[in-house]
Amino acid sequence: MGDLVELVDHDGSWIGYGLCNPESRILCRLYSWSKEIPIDETLIADRLRSAMQLRHQLVESSSTPPDRLAQRICFSEADRLSGLIIDRFGKHFVIQITAAGMLRFLDTVCETLKATYAVESISLLIDPSTAVTEGLEETNEVLFGTLPSEPITIDENSLAWSIDLRQGQKTGWYLDQSTNRAHAAHWLRNSKRILDVCCYTGGFAITAAARNRNAQIVAIDSSHKALEIANHNAALNSVDHIEFIQGDAFDYLRHPTEGCELFDAIVLDPPKLAGSRNKLPAALRAYHRLNFSAVKQLLPGGLLITCSCSGRLSREEFRQVLLGVSKRSGRDIQILHQRGAAVDHPSLATCPETDYLKFFICRVF
Ligand code: SAH
Repeated sequence: MGDLVELVDHDGSWIGYGLCNPESRILCRLYSWSKEIPIDETLIADRLRSAMQLRHQLVESSSTPPDRLAQRICFSEADRLSGLIIDRFGKHFVIQITAAGMLRFLDTVCETLKATYAVESISLLIDPSTAVTEGLEETNEVLFGTLPSEPITIDENSLAWSIDLRQGQKTGWYLDQSTNRAHAAHWLRNSKRILDVCCYTGGFAITAAARNRNAQIVAIDSSHKALEIANHNAALNSVDHIEFIQGDAFDYLRHPTEGCELFDAIVLDPPKLAGSRNKLPAALRAYHRLNFSAVKQLLPGGLLITCSCSGRLSREEFRQVLLGVSKRSGRDIQILHQRGAAVDHPSLATCPETDYLKFFICRVF
């Protein structure tokens, strides 16, 4: 699994070097298009250093101390290291492997990180869905150093956030929405009733609450553990006007609490609904249902801040979802601002899936 192969086309002409995994839906991942550049430790270390150099430039003038800095250090195909994601939380690093072939370079990755940063821990994560699609063992283990016994605190948008490296979802914090949280808070600064759907540990709700002390804010997520941290994050930032509710987003939007007034702003940030191409039709229906139900809970002129993190779904397809919702609800949807993932999540021209996050700020008439 993850064997080094040379790829040739049907008439034998050379294409590139790849890592092959017969168990995976992606049979071969390509890393080099030059015969002189094989896939070895040098190539992996060079590309990782180039990824780290970019991240260094991005925070050069930041006043955040290194032990409170959170950043995506390496983003898979976008950094020409398909299957390797690395997130940094202060001095703790989480490596997420999404391609079996990358496992053989773990030592190189760890050594390169240690040569660059004052590393306190490096953890390895292989999530359940990757384990199935790549034929690997689900993994969550510490490769180097020790994890702090308590959650750590990082800074984002001048607010403090608790990250539980032992139990968080994904690598612990959704870094891709960092700047979008600040943009959302700007648009929500005068809203009176705000709903944050799929709030996880309170990212959008708390950033908005810190900017808008007069709003009444409701935030919902299905994860009890995430909401415990969300309450802690609210306290960390002296924000006490958010009601956190554990529940199903689809149910809540379809059957809100009786007598509940309509909202004047709703944030929708659901998990990836289209994980693979064959799930796309069902995912499109789910995005439609979620956005339609949200529109029904919005006052005329209300703000809908709606996201999709499914790489399989293009920006245009997401726009079509909103078109469908607009037609069915009879409500015009005006798109005010469109964004993608934060700048530490670049995308690769040859891999459109790396431009995966759609973030639309809309006004619904
Ligand atoms: N907005 C968050 C990130 C959301 S990630 C932030 O700013 O950090 C998606 C979240 O959806 C996860 O926290 C997950 O627990 C939650 N979730 C998944 N399915 C759900 C459902 N059916 N109802 C409510 N929440 C759900």
